[in-house]
Amino acid sequence: MDISLSELVERQKQYYDSGMTKDIRHRLDTLQKLRETLQGAEDQLFEALHRDLSKPKAEAYATEIGVVLHEISFAMKHLKKWVKARKVKSMTAMLGSKSYIVPEPYGTALIISPWNYPVNLTFTPLVAAIAAGNTAVVKPSELTPSVSSLISALVRDHFDPRHIAVVEGGPETSTELLEQPFDTVFFTGSTSIGKKVAEAAARRLIPVTLELGGKSPCIVHRDADLKLAARRIAFGKFTNGGQTCVAPDYLLVHREVKQELLEKMRQEVERFYGKAPVRSPLYPKIVNDRHYDRLKSYLDEGEIVFGGETDALLRKIAPTALDNVPLDAQVMKEEIFGPILPVLEYGELDEAIRFVLDKPKPLALYVFAKDETVQQRVVDRLSFGGGCINDTLMHVATPYLPFGGVGESGTGSYHGEFGFRAFSHYKSVLKQTTAFDMPFRYPSSKSGYRLM
Ligand code: NAD
Repeated sequence: MDISLSELVERQKQYYDSGMTKDIRHRLDTLQKLRETLQGAEDQLFEALHRDLSKPKAEAYATEIGVVLHEISFAMKHLKKWVKARKVKSMTAMLGSKSYIVPEPYGTALIISPWNYPVNLTFTPLVAAIAAGNTAVVKPSELTPSVSSLISALVRDHFDPRHIAVVEGGPETSTELLEQPFDTVFFTGSTSIGKKVAEAAARRLIPVTLELGGKSPCIVHRDADLKLAARRIAFGKFTNGGQTCVAPDYLLVHREVKQELLEKMRQEVERFYGKAPVRSPLYPKIVNDRHYDRLKSYLDEGEIVFGGETDALLRKIAPTALDNVPLDAQVMKEEIFGPILPVLEYGELDEAIRFVLDKPKPLALYVFAKDETVQQRVVDRLSFGGGCINDTLMHVATPYLPFGGVGESGTGSYHGEFGFRAFSHYKSVLKQTTAFDMPFRYPSSKSGYRLM
């Protein structure tokens, strides 16, 4: 980009002030153009995702491109309803008045995205920002450079930079962006960087959405359908090589079913990726050497039940379950974000609940159990961003559910209308009648000065 960041943001603010982006037709046309741009670039996106993460085509479509296209269709279908001002009741004491709530765009938004789903997590928030009528600057992750430069080229070639622009770069660029006068920030990434983003936003008093990470537990109770649980946990944990923010981070399994569950998971992993997953074209690689080394070091922290193979050249680590892991091991302290699953066992459900309660509120939580009182107890007792009963990840794949964290796993949510809301201010308007005037509200009233 040949202009400074402050100039870029200034131009976006002027464009926003022109009122163009608030026009519904303009929003729909932009979403349509985004759809055509992504559809036209599908092969390039597959290639870039393969270069950066070895993502197989089917997975890349299901978890990245297809998700964004679906989000665009959903927003286009519902936008007219979302933008409508909503009438609400007026107080009796305000007889004659009308009250309504008007969603208005925040203005100029900054979107900072991570590397693990670099297409999905850049464009899904952008869809919401456009639908809500904002201009936006997008900063993709520097750790997936092929996707980042492709996104930058696509946006540059198809959109007016006063409306949508991409700025590439790492932490310094992000920090500089956060100093610009944006009206809102939407950040997806780690909890530690999320805190810095929140601090920067607080200095400007602007709203933030923080989509962060953490250690998401997966509880498997004694009565669970183990075959199904094994398959769905293996799917949730090993998709994208475990580099999924909502992947089960660790397993809490009832001790009576532990061995059987682990054996069934081993079989499912073999069914998904064959006997040598590190050589499977269906199995993605670790994003860089730093993360590969970090993950590899976890393998020494417990007893390998299955997996454990690594290939430094391919940068792959096989789907692995680790048993007998000390609670003070690094793998139990840090968010794993890779294909290694520590397994802890419990006897009473309350032990598992207590364990989770003692940790920061997770982004996701999964419970596998047939007994509905068990399911309900887990949902009632524990706070988490979102999750599934008898499944993993799927709560994220529907626009009808808000997706976001709580506490250390994030603030705010998006997807579907929740995304529209994340980029909107809800303005209150009370329209007063001029046909008459209620005297009692004024200090001169004999019946007393009472507004409420
Ligand atoms: P990260 O926090 O290192 O980086 C995220 C983005 O922030 C990148 O674009 C990066 O360039 C930028 N950044 C780096 N330093 C910064 C700074 N000092 N100030 C401002 N921005 C800065 O995260 P990551 O490694 O890209 O992604 C992995 C993390 O993201 C995991 O913790 C994962 O759980 C989380 N995540 C969360 C979600 C979610 O939806 N909740 C989705 C995917 C990933």
